[in-house]
Amino acid sequence: MRVDPKRTRERMVREQLEGRGVSDPAVLSAMREIPRHIFVEEALAAKAYLDCPLPIGEGQTISQPYVVALMTEVLQVRPGMRVLEIGTGSGYQATVLARMGADVYTVERIKSLFFAARQRFLDMRLFSVRCKLDDGTLGWPDEAPFDRIMVTAGGPNLPEPLLEQLGDPGRLVIPVGVSRGNQNLLLVEKQDGEVRKTDLGGVSFVDLVGAHGW
Ligand code: SAH
Repeated sequence: MRVDPKRTRERMVREQLEGRGVSDPAVLSAMREIPRHIFVEEALAAKAYLDCPLPIGEGQTISQPYVVALMTEVLQVRPGMRVLEIGTGSGYQATVLARMGADVYTVERIKSLFFAARQRFLDMRLFSVRCKLDDGTLGWPDEAPFDRIMVTAGGPNLPEPLLEQLGDPGRLVIPVGVSRGNQNLLLVEKQDGEVRKTDLGGVSFVDLVGAHGW
């Protein structure tokens, strides 16, 4: 790409993230370091730091940088936590979580995206990311419980298996909506057996498909 990716990334962090109130230093430094342009096709590399989602093939998208930062910040990820991600896509979000020191378990249902993301994790020697080709609405029962769960596709409601696999205390974020492509970001907190849900506002994600999805 013709633009200097490091300077472009610094500008993305300053204008799109800090400018909108993202302040977790671990989120900001992970997103300042990770070369987002390697997660999209070469033809789109120059657009990788723009303030929008981008296509990654199979009708799916890599989320807008701000949305990645916002979802990661509300999860309050700390080093050593076990984090489950549903919807590996390009692998960018999983890489952000891994750079923050989490042990990442990520599930993708589309074969070509799964293989491409797995290759990126290998190329980056990111061994703290484990990936699986499966219906993520069923979670990853063998590895549960998880300290944090992030769903990066929008479903009609919160899949029951994910709530079951969330540890206590635990935090989960998921876009939920009655119509496709139009959701509200839901933060779910589990503490002392109680579950509290907070609406964080409107978002637009690709569909969460599967047994507990659309
Ligand atoms: N987090 C990704 C973006 C995800 S786009 C990134 O950083 O690039 C949403 C992804 O969720 C798509 O790849 C889609 O195939 C996947 N998806 C949708 N329903 C799913 C399901 N039930 N299980 C696993 N992945 C699913």
